[in-house]
Amino acid sequence: MKFVSQLLQPLLTIPKNAKIKNTEITCKSQKLLLECGLIRPTASGLFALLPLALRAVDKLEALVRHRIEEVGGQRLSLPALTAANLWEKTGRMSEELLKVQDRTGRSFVLAPTHEEAIADLLADVGPLSYKQLPLLVYQISDKFRDELRPKHGVLRARSFRMLDAYGAHASHEHAVTTYHRVTDAYQKLFKDLHLKVYRVAAECGDMGGSESHEWQLPAPAGEDRVPTDGGSVSSVEVGHTFILGTRYSATLGAHCVPPSGPPQPLHMSCYGIGITRLLGASLEALSTDTALRWPAAIAPYRAILIGPKEGSKEWALYDPTRVSELYEELSHTTSLRGDLLCDDRHQMTVGKRLLMADKMGYPEVIVIGKAALETPPRFELRASGRVQLLTWPELMMALAGVETGRATAQI
Ligand code: ATP
Ligand code: MG
Repeated sequence: MKFVSQLLQPLLTIPKNAKIKNTEITCKSQKLLLECGLIRPTASGLFALLPLALRAVDKLEALVRHRIEEVGGQRLSLPALTAANLWEKTGRMSEELLKVQDRTGRSFVLAPTHEEAIADLLADVGPLSYKQLPLLVYQISDKFRDELRPKHGVLRARSFRMLDAYGAHASHEHAVTTYHRVTDAYQKLFKDLHLKVYRVAAECGDMGGSESHEWQLPAPAGEDRVPTDGGSVSSVEVGHTFILGTRYSATLGAHCVPPSGPPQPLHMSCYGIGITRLLGASLEALSTDTALRWPAAIAPYRAILIGPKEGSKEWALYDPTRVSELYEELSHTTSLRGDLLCDDRHQMTVGKRLLMADKMGYPEVIVIGKAALETPPRFELRASGRVQLLTWPELMMALAGVETGRATAQI
């Protein structure tokens, strides 16, 4: 049973133009995530992801894993600490890197990305036979950047979650083939989320390589711009993909053995998606000024059940024990399994709890209201801006996605 009264969800009321400890509130996703008790700043650019936010992150990561594994991605995990000398070798030691030393004085970089680490690993285990290629490996992990100006909450943080995938190939042509497969997987992922993300040709810059695209989601707080049909709009870079060529493999000694001839440097590609940035950017794009709106697939809970207020007429029939029974039945016999929350704060009016559920953006809200006293009892299902009054079997069917044919009203 998942009760709202038990959640670690420190709600905040942020007065207009207010500043709170360690945080400047500069955009709506940041404000709403703080107000709704989903994140909490711990220092400039650093955030604790609280239980509801982490559920959304987990759902997003599961979708990403599914799409990357569908195109052959193998999951691995590289240490967050990478030897500083690797960064010196590739010429990427910069101010943006967070550095640490161990007790013997050896220097490490808290990885902002892992091109060096993966090329070093492939050098260590190689040379790979051309028969083992193409290889696509990925991880989803915390990354670190000493951003000059952390901004917009999780959109530009100093520690954030990122998918990073790396392709290794025997030739440029093979790298291009994998690039198309993985970028097709990106398109599917954004479709899963119902987000219109633009693929924009980009400079390879500091990364090196021959081809690169940024994946831009139009959103008010975006620091980039994306061209649309009528001019351009502000957008957030949620992902970045590159064909890297042999820059990292040649420098760090990652080779493959071709069918004939001597070992050659691997042709590499890399694929990044900022998981926490994508989550923040989708909220930035979909939410109103006062209420969170999620891509349905990653809402922290798909639905919430609101029982009657203590002492009301409905309360006589639907006390906490009865509400718990209905909750159990809903969560065990419908597709809501594990994805239903119960707002058990019975001392609060249904109206107030409805407002809070709306602010949180739960896609489906089930209310035990006045009609629950009728014969047969009917329950309110609020979803996609409409409300339906349904008998218990009809409610079960509606939650399973079956149309009931019942009249609906706009909320
Ligand atoms: P930006 O131009 O916004 O600083 P970047 O080009 O430096 O980002 P990449 O090196 O391409 O970022 O990293 C891959 C992805 O990681 C980005 O597309 C973005 O989604 C995410 N990302 C990068 N920096 C941050 C950050 N500071 N906070 C959250 N996510 C980030
Ligand atoms: Mg980038």
